[in-house]
Amino acid sequence: MGVEIDIKPIKEWLPKLNNPLLIAGPCSLETEEQAMDTARQLAKDPRVFVYRGGVWKPRTRPGSFEGIGSIGLEWLKQVKQETGLLVGTEVANAQHTEEALKAGLDVLWIGARSTASPFVVQEIADVLKGTDAVVMVKNPVNPDTQLWMGAIERLSKSGITKLVGIHRGFTPFRETKYRNYPNWQSFIELRRLMPNLPVICDPSHIAGKREYLQEVSQKAFDMGMDGLMIESHRDPSCALSDAAQQLTPTDLFKLLDKLVIRNEKVDNKQFEDQLEMLRNRIDSLDTELLEILSSRMEVVRQIGQYKRDNNVTALQMSRWTELMNKRIAAGENMNLNRTFVQILFQLIHEDSVRMQTEIMDAE
Ligand code: PEP
Ligand code: MN
Repeated sequence: MGVEIDIKPIKEWLPKLNNPLLIAGPCSLETEEQAMDTARQLAKDPRVFVYRGGVWKPRTRPGSFEGIGSIGLEWLKQVKQETGLLVGTEVANAQHTEEALKAGLDVLWIGARSTASPFVVQEIADVLKGTDAVVMVKNPVNPDTQLWMGAIERLSKSGITKLVGIHRGFTPFRETKYRNYPNWQSFIELRRLMPNLPVICDPSHIAGKREYLQEVSQKAFDMGMDGLMIESHRDPSCALSDAAQQLTPTDLFKLLDKLVIRNEKVDNKQFEDQLEMLRNRIDSLDTELLEILSSRMEVVRQIGQYKRDNNVTALQMSRWTELMNKRIAAGENMNLNRTFVQILFQLIHEDSVRMQTEIMDAE
């Protein structure tokens, strides 16, 4: 069931924003020079609205660069003063949050490892109570939409209304081309459950490598996301964290130039009519699909009764393997994706076995 919480649309708290929300800046702030120089370059493009810079870095293992610490907040203040960009950083406990509020940062975000811990989120939410802070919540490292929503609800209970979700992908359980598995389905689920929550994409932590940033960013807009948070460093080759995924400001601008930003709706009667016609076809095909599934289940039921009367098990492995192979091959001949057909028939089969065992147990 969807959750109705009081969330202000981005346009209400950033009235000057006239394109998708773009947050850019280095993974970590390293030196005053690096922070300022990167910011000056980014500020040249009006599409960049918020400057990000990690000050406290949650590294998976100790020993790597863990952030410059509180001094970085002074640099962010300087960036804001000099460039006019809004500024933000990640907070991961009560003390970070207090310091970031005191420094007057415009945006705070909760990182993926922190979102996974309700204790940490609650501690941050308690400090934020009664403030007007803008808080962005990255998805937890594991694909648990409830945990993601839970963090947003905790902030909402503290009176925070300027909330944004950040989709940064999930820890993959096997080797994948991306650093973090995007699982777009989790974003769709969050949008379904919290339709008024703006959600932006962090292609940097999904991609892990510069070469995939363009395709992930485009996909985010194709899915109707509200903006991007991208890591940009004046010289990625010597970045102290996430060197492989950062872009120079110039390369970031080139990436932005190539992006096609899609709207959820357009004001074009002919397009609307054509879309309406195609949607009607989908509706009637879906009805046919359901009718066919229903007839198939009726036959499955008859087979179940027949097996029961002859004392045969509901599952016959050899028949199932043969059926699956045939369906995948037939599907491929009809241009259907192999994995899709496999998952579809696994689901159908699972429910057929469930139905047949029910028939047998009903005796
Ligand atoms: C970051 O934004 O630099 C970061 C550490 O991200 P995440 O929490 O998504 O891993
Ligand atoms: Mn990073």
